[in-house]
Amino acid sequence: MLEARDLLGPATGTRELNRKKMIIEIMIKADRQSRIARRSGLSQASVSTAVQELAEAGIVEAEKGTEVRGRGRSAQVRLRPVRGVAVGVDLSHDHVTVVARRVDQHFDRIRVQQRQDGAHGGLRRLLPSIVGMIGDAVEETGQTLDDVVAAGISVPRMIDPRTGRFTTPVLPPWTEHDQPAEELGRLLGVHFAIDNDANLGAMAEQTYGMDEPAETVVYVKATTGVGVGIMIGDKLLRGQRGMAGEIGHLTMDRYGEVCQCGGRGCLDSIVGAESLIAEVRQALRGNTIDVPVTLASLIEKAHAGDAVCARVLKDAGRTIGLALAQLCNLFNPHLVVLGGELATGRELILGPCRQELQRYALAGAVNPAEGFVLRLSQLGALAEAQGALILGLRSCHGDEGGRTVNRAVGSGVSSS
Ligand SMILES: [Zn+2]
Repeated sequence: MLEARDLLGPATGTRELNRKKMIIEIMIKADRQSRIARRSGLSQASVSTAVQELAEAGIVEAEKGTEVRGRGRSAQVRLRPVRGVAVGVDLSHDHVTVVARRVDQHFDRIRVQQRQDGAHGGLRRLLPSIVGMIGDAVEETGQTLDDVVAAGISVPRMIDPRTGRFTTPVLPPWTEHDQPAEELGRLLGVHFAIDNDANLGAMAEQTYGMDEPAETVVYVKATTGVGVGIMIGDKLLRGQRGMAGEIGHLTMDRYGEVCQCGGRGCLDSIVGAESLIAEVRQALRGNTIDVPVTLASLIEKAHAGDAVCARVLKDAGRTIGLALAQLCNLFNPHLVVLGGELATGRELILGPCRQELQRYALAGAVNPAEGFVLRLSQLGALAEAQGALILGLRSCHGDEGGRTVNRAVGSGVSSS
């Protein structure tokens, strides 16, 4: 069997680098040549040549019933059997999700491990559990930890693209001494790429959430707080210090409450999970039973017809819609995807959000007749972990800026 480690080894010269980029994109998702070209940023001609060479070398093949050459761009190109596993970790405040997949298998054939306990209690305490979860997920793929060739981690904080570490000042419960990618890399002997959760959700939705990748994609991660990831073509918009897309700290009410960032009236302080729960508690003051204590229970009650919970969710949808209207005027995206736990409110969130977008954005920027789409995440709770897996694979090429730190010796990936 082919070894993914060999395929992802050091490459020199344009031809070898293009070939490696192609292999990585096919590991991320078996796809048509035209879509691989769009994802990789390579020309159709380069992709066509590389696919032909890889097919002759026995590394890729066309999906059954199609031919790489015969059907040209419409053929689905996939890897032949390869030994190697890619891992994605979503490390949140209140949960951890790990996905693992053989790199030669379809993107949805992931093995998943989840726990309802996150970084709130401190990273160091959690690390051994994460290592165990990765071990279990990898084992379920039929391969071993030694076969892991790529790994990525998603965190609910900004990551400085220049260093691959938290952008300072770091908001609690994290500290600037927390280095989850480096710590996991040390424990497992594999390089972990790292990025912000909304960024990785955007990457996953653009890659796995649709057949034809949209050019500009905005992914909204709304849970404890709100952040967005912005994909423009095959690139994530990170900004100078990884602060692009911090929509949670847009000022929505200049006389509002002080936010943990030091600002006032930030979107986070209005629609963050704790604020929504506090709003319900305030409305139900005097009641001691049946008051929701988590966002999940608040949403569940809203779906069951609770008027207070439903109203709080709808208003959150409106406020997010108003913030997104500003973003749509700035970036004019093709697609806005609502993800994170708040998106499980479905139409209770999406409907009011859509109304406010229509009301406050430039009409042409959010017109469905012109191709604009606002929808819920297709990947749900796995979006960020799937994005981390993609990031891990892309970082093997060395051009996913800033995340080449802590490249473990012998991990089988090239440095940039
Ligand atoms: Zn803020």
